Amino acid sequence: MTPLQEWLKPPKSLLLILFLLTLVSVTALAWSGWKLLEQDRMVQAQQRQELLEQEADRIAATLRVSLAETGDRLSAWLAAPPAAGALKDGVLLIARDHTITAYPAERLLYYPTPSNDPEAPAEIFADAELLEFQEEQLVRAAAAYRVLAESKDAAVRAGALLRLGRVLRKAGHADEAQAAYARLAGFTGVCVAGVPADLVARHELGDSALRADLLRGKWHITRGQFEFYFGEPVPEDRRLLADAAAVAWNPANGPGQTTIWIGSHPFLAMWRSLGATHAVLIQSPQLPPTERVFCAAVDSEGRLVAGRRDRSGRAAIRTTAESKLPWTLYLSTAQPPPLSGMPANQRYLMFGVGVMALFLVAGTYFTARAIRGEIETSRMQSDFVSAVSHEFRSPLTSIRQLSEILALGRAPDQERRQLYYDTLVRETQRLQRLVEALLNFGRMEAGKRPYHFEELDAGELVALVAAEFEHRAAEAGRRIELSGPDYPCMVEADPEALAVALRNLIDNALKYSPDEPVVWVNWSMQNGQIAIQVRDHGAGIADAERKAIFRKFVRGSAAAAGNVRGSGVGLAMVLHIVDAHRGEIQVTSEPGQGSTFTVLLPAVEKPCPASS
Ligand code: ADP
Repeated sequence: MTPLQEWLKPPKSLLLILFLLTLVSVTALAWSGWKLLEQDRMVQAQQRQELLEQEADRIAATLRVSLAETGDRLSAWLAAPPAAGALKDGVLLIARDHTITAYPAERLLYYPTPSNDPEAPAEIFADAELLEFQEEQLVRAAAAYRVLAESKDAAVRAGALLRLGRVLRKAGHADEAQAAYARLAGFTGVCVAGVPADLVARHELGDSALRADLLRGKWHITRGQFEFYFGEPVPEDRRLLADAAAVAWNPANGPGQTTIWIGSHPFLAMWRSLGATHAVLIQSPQLPPTERVFCAAVDSEGRLVAGRRDRSGRAAIRTTAESKLPWTLYLSTAQPPPLSGMPANQRYLMFGVGVMALFLVAGTYFTARAIRGEIETSRMQSDFVSAVSHEFRSPLTSIRQLSEILALGRAPDQERRQLYYDTLVRETQRLQRLVEALLNFGRMEAGKRPYHFEELDAGELVALVAAEFEHRAAEAGRRIELSGPDYPCMVEADPEALAVALRNLIDNALKYSPDEPVVWVNWSMQNGQIAIQVRDHGAGIADAERKAIFRKFVRGSAAAAGNVRGSGVGLAMVLHIVDAHRGEIQVTSEPGQGSTFTVLLPAVEKPCPASS
């Protein structure tokens, strides 16, 4: 045995090596696939980051431009206030000549400073109030107020009417008081007690539309005044802007901007000045629209001013120093790509690696199978060689011994000599049959066995072949029982080849039922076919072996159990021959009960006569 053969000898270790090699290869393949995938992901992450950086630059630039444009607009509004509807969001306060105007006025509930409308000095009413409060001369006080209510100065009139209403109410003249307030309600642009006159009058009159007008920002009043006249908590959303305006109202000279927080609500306040005119714009901070990215603006204290901040992935950051914006910008990708949305190249890569791994595993499987098959065949071949050698050895030994006895003239008498001659003939015939069988098999395997078909009677051939076994069977006290119709069953066959097949079947039947006295051989016509059955009551064949025994060199469990001599090529030969006759071979068997081998051959067209 060569070292290689020695090394390969235990098939299990060879298969184990193959398995380990495959495992290593598949692992290496999977590892490289994973690495490639990771690399691809890194490249993609890099590309995403680059896109993010570009998007961050774009957003920063857009925001800068938009802030600059807002600043320019604000400067323009210093000279000419915005047209109605020009301000989509927020509120603009313009202070000119100590007067603050809001645009659009209806968005601002109250102002950072009290109204600057004219109001009559309190001294004008000093005498009348002395009568009203100290001397409690209500009628005289009312008369004094009435006089003042006719003053040329609207502010004095308004102040007088307010006081007149008050004193009339005190005196119990409710109707007259109402009339005074009603008159007062018609005043605009004047204040009484620091509050717009009409607001006070309508409040005194109990005007139901007062709240709606307050919510419409009709009057220039302070927060305290608003809360007093509104009488209810201020609506949250409206309050925020007014509070922001109050905080932002610090008109410094020169342009500027800042972020104002009212609770958790940020506002951007921007101001500009032109001489004594100041403008402050208060708006909610806005970011330009983005696609597939989250963008967040964060102030110097880390509070989110606008947008949405996603901290799960990598972000592109633009600090205030870099971007010259009032806020730091954070940009991140909206979503890591889900698995199903894996890019096509990654899918192809995974698919390719998968297919390669599959091929590798399949290749290993088939190689392992082939190796096992080869190992099995070589085992069977070596079994075959030893079985055939054994088959040769016993007739050769008898021939040598008997011919020596005869050559040395040691045979005692003529009768014994004759017996020796007969045995020599039989053993020689056995050897010849064996050699012929092997040659036949070799030729059949090589496809070189020529078949000479002729019409023959199957029954006749069966009888002839069975007769060859008669002597051997009789010696063992056994017999072959033949049965078949008494008319010829014609078949187109090679007589020699068919005889070989029948010989093998009858030989097997005798071999594998050594303790049974009878082996049955029957021929018949069945549905246009000639059926030749060889039946025994012997060892039988296990289900699992029924197919395999027709393969060359395969010997079944019956051979091993009965220590029966043979080469394992008999049934393979039978199958060859039957196939060459376009026939079929069937086997039915029950282990321990015996077996029946049936050869089915196409009958010659002309019908057999019913009987002779
Ligand atoms: P061999 O008889 O030389 O072993 P064959 O090819 O003729 O080879 O038969 C193959 C195997 O089939 C046998 O080893 C035996 O196990 C099984 N076999 C064949 N004929 C019979 C039978 N009549 N009864 C039981 N087993 C049989």
